[in-house]
Amino acid sequence: MRMKPWIFGIALSFLAMPWACVSGASRREGTDGDTTKKDTMTYKVQKSEEEWKTALGDEAYRVLRLKGTERPFTSEFETHWEPGTYVCKGCGQELFSSQTKFDAGCGWPSFYQSIDKSRVREIPDNSHGMNRVEVVCSGCGGHLGHVFTDGYGQPTGLRYCINGVSLGFRKKSE
Ligand SMILES: [Zn+2]
Repeated sequence: MRMKPWIFGIALSFLAMPWACVSGASRREGTDGDTTKKDTMTYKVQKSEEEWKTALGDEAYRVLRLKGTERPFTSEFETHWEPGTYVCKGCGQELFSSQTKFDAGCGWPSFYQSIDKSRVREIPDNSHGMNRVEVVCSGCGGHLGHVFTDGYGQPTGLRYCINGVSLGFRKKSE
């Protein structure tokens, strides 16, 4: 049975989508460091792998602790615009304000800056044949996502592309 051309078209555009966020990577400059090395930083919040698994659940554990990536357009926070603060799901540290969140259209919650530079660590990441900069929580070392310098996030020009499953949300109190 022959596949109808339109089905093929839909399949193709679906396949192309997840890469929208990643495509900015090649434009990043000056990230030549070896990034596949293990993070040797000691974080305030320490748990055993078993404790993390129990505390986070499967999907958040896979992303935060094993540096996974959630499927695009699946996070409740991707289209979430309430005023408040996004916190690390691993340790509760406040990371991003809703005021810096913007719609990058790439399928993951995106911010143009963190609440404070001390809240996140940015680590060069050359995995998967790309030059990217990984973003981890400075409190527990949990993997949050990547930051790109592709100019989408204004006024800083930065786009923190963050897995929603790595985040919690505290609504702004009236
Ligand atoms: Zn954390």
